[in-house]
Amino acid sequence: MNPVSTPEIAPASTAALADLAANPLDWHDLADRVLKGHALTEAEGLAALRCPDDQLLDLLSAAFRIRRRYWGKTVQLYFLMNAKSGLCPEDCSYCSQSKISTAEIPRYNFLSRDKILEGARIAAEQQARTYCMVISARGPSEREMQAVEQLVPLIKSQYQLDVCACLGLLTPDQAARLKACGVDTVNHNLNTSESYYGEICTTHSYQDRLDTLRAVRDAGLKICSGGIIGMGETDLDVVRMAFALRDLRVESIPLNFLNPIDGTPLAGSRHLTPRYCLKALALYRFANPASEIRIAGGREIHLGSLQSLGLYAANSLFVGDYLTTRGQAPAADYKMIEELGFEVTQCEETGRCGDPNA
Ligand code: SF4
Repeated sequence: MNPVSTPEIAPASTAALADLAANPLDWHDLADRVLKGHALTEAEGLAALRCPDDQLLDLLSAAFRIRRRYWGKTVQLYFLMNAKSGLCPEDCSYCSQSKISTAEIPRYNFLSRDKILEGARIAAEQQARTYCMVISARGPSEREMQAVEQLVPLIKSQYQLDVCACLGLLTPDQAARLKACGVDTVNHNLNTSESYYGEICTTHSYQDRLDTLRAVRDAGLKICSGGIIGMGETDLDVVRMAFALRDLRVESIPLNFLNPIDGTPLAGSRHLTPRYCLKALALYRFANPASEIRIAGGREIHLGSLQSLGLYAANSLFVGDYLTTRGQAPAADYKMIEELGFEVTQCEETGRCGDPNA
């Protein structure tokens, strides 16, 4: 699939894969074991990702049993606010806001207080549990930090919303300040596996991202971290990112499916099928049973008419638009959720919130 990244499969996994080829996995048996605490192996993860299409419903049904244990039939909605658009000095190859992107997108500095508060109002109106403030930046400037510190208490005093901040790389001091002003969660995606990271970005490293996540955890904030599938990585990269998120005990995992935006280096890359996306969602549920798993950007493009099936493995969606691309109309999301017999709900109503650290 990808000529650059060829992470080696450990010999033990090669033997296990051969064994699984001879004795295919029973997905429900695997779900039983996961529910009893079994940590998915690399070979099992690859098997899920490569599950034959005619077993896809079995795979999703087994993933749903895990989802149901931690999240019932609830769906958590997140609302994105692009608070500073198109001004990033980094070179992430998938991103329309990078310094190397020529995508035709809005470019503006940190939005006014009124616009950010108006976004929070819309988030609450659209039944979001979490309002995500995102800036395009390597990391926040002091002015941006101060703006966030002033805005978060205002948002939380006016609306029943959790606040997630996505501000780029953070120092331990910045993470502590975000915690102190009332931010609940910080988003910082791993994006892909450690071995593939250098193929998608050269201006910062995978280790930089891990350092930020460590600072976030040490500050007592919840971690939102996921990635993007369809950037030319191998199946093994997809599995290893799932395991890296497991090792970090990430509470919330947004799984994006590459929207190859014109003007970015990945424009024109289209490797995914709806079935592969569903298998990836199931794999992430098996690997991270208690975590919130969000079907993020690209769901409309890649899952198409199968979007609703994704919610048998995942339990969360973005409602409204993405950072620089349009999302499905909220009414269509509510209809899909209702037709599934699921319900949009607030975190507090689900009890334990699927927190893998609880
Ligand atoms: S750091 Fe974030 S905003 Fe900047 S190029 Fe990378 S993904 Fe885009």
